[in-house]
Parts: sequence; structure tokens; C-alpha cells
Amino acid sequence: MPALSTPALVLRRADYKDYDRMVTLFTPEYGRIDAIARGCRRSKSPLTNATEPFAYGEYQLYLRKDRYTVDQVSVRENHLKLTERYEYFLHGAYWLRLLEAAVMPEAPAEGLFLITLKALAYLSYSDLPPELLTMAFEMHLMAQLGLQPRVDSCLLCGRRLEAEAHFDAILGGAICTRCVSDSPIISNGARRIIMKLPRTAFEKIDLVLDHPDWKEAAYAFRQYVIDRLHVEDYAPALAQIEKQ
Ligand SMILES: [Zn+2]
Repeated sequence: MPALSTPALVLRRADYKDYDRMVTLFTPEYGRIDAIARGCRRSKSPLTNATEPFAYGEYQLYLRKDRYTVDQVSVRENHLKLTERYEYFLHGAYWLRLLEAAVMPEAPAEGLFLITLKALAYLSYSDLPPELLTMAFEMHLMAQLGLQPRVDSCLLCGRRLEAEAHFDAILGGAICTRCVSDSPIISNGARRIIMKLPRTAFEKIDLVLDHPDWKEAAYAFRQYVIDRLHVEDYAPALAQIEKQ
């Protein structure tokens, strides 16, 4: 029976039959994996905690009839701290939906995996506003996917940008004020945050807090993420964080 052992983060779980769960795992080497965890809803099952969303650890799976089954798990971090901070938890739930949309089966995503764990540590333990952490996570996510919007020069005429500009979420970048565009204007500061934050380590994103334009950048970038990852099923998670 082919077996594999991999680090993984649980993105989603769903009850299955009487005592089982289906889990969606994010792994660095194999991308997204759906697996069944048998008996994990029986009391005292060692797999119960390991099949909760946000659980991270070393997962041993085996493959039978084209389906992965969770065999054993050594949990390293279950991010339980998030459940004590409801607002942060809602943001984390949105991140998991984004990852479900972005990570493809059998597509390695090592860099994204490491950044996700780092970002979740900040979401669990730092006092930075969750909106700021979500913006940083979205920007790093899109950069890892090769979907960073172009904001250093005008999408239409190529002119280098040094000032406020339109931000076109659908075309995926900035358009100078000399070119014709119906898309909203963003400040030079917000444009520069969109340009630089994907290359800023989480250790340094607190510097953005002093920047008056970060909420504007977060709003503009959110529209872009929604357009690019076009997945309807994260709408409820998104509504939860936006009504806060
Ligand atoms: Zn232009």
C-alpha cells in the first residue's frame, strides 16, 4: 500500500458517514490533498484534533483505491490561540478559503506553505490588527502564485508611475492619470504599499501600521484578490471579516 509522510495544514473538514471526516490538506510538496480520517469522531480518537482546521503537523497517509486515508499524525501546532481571539479566527478562516482556492492538487507550493505558517503564527500571537495581517497575507499569497499586480508602471502606456494612479482590479494593475480609465484612483502611498509589501517579511510589516494609506491599499487589493481567485464559496468568510 503506497504511503506518504508529509507536513500538512488542515484547510477544511467535513463529517462523513457516522464516525469519519473528510479533510482537505495543504502540503508543501504535493499541493492540496483530500483525505479521509476514519473513526476520528469517536471519543478518544487520536485523530480528532489533527483533523480540525488550522492543525499543522506531520501527516502519514496511505493511498488505497485512489483515495488517501489519514493513518497517523504528529501535530506540531493546532493554532488553538486563534479560537480565543474571535476576530483573528475569522480572518484565519478567510485565509484557509483563499488557500483552498489557490493551492492545486499535485502542485508543489513550498514557498507559500512556509509563508502561510509564518503568517498564521503572527495571526495567533501578535497584536497587529488582523486587517493588516490579512492584507500582508493576501499580497504574499498573490506574489507566490505569480499573480502580483503591476503597479510600478502604467498598464496602458507603460509610463513609470511616481504619483496617484487608477487601480484596475480586473486588468490587474495601475493606470496613469493621463490614460483613460473608469477604475478608482489610489494614492501614491497605497500604490507603493501594493508594490513593496509582497517583498516585506512579516517581521517588518509593523512598519506599515504608521502609514496612513494602508487601509486604502488593503481595500484596493481585496478587490483584486476576489477577481483573480474567483471562487464564490469564500464569500461568507469574507463577509464575516468585512462586517467587523
Ligand atoms: Zn498611462
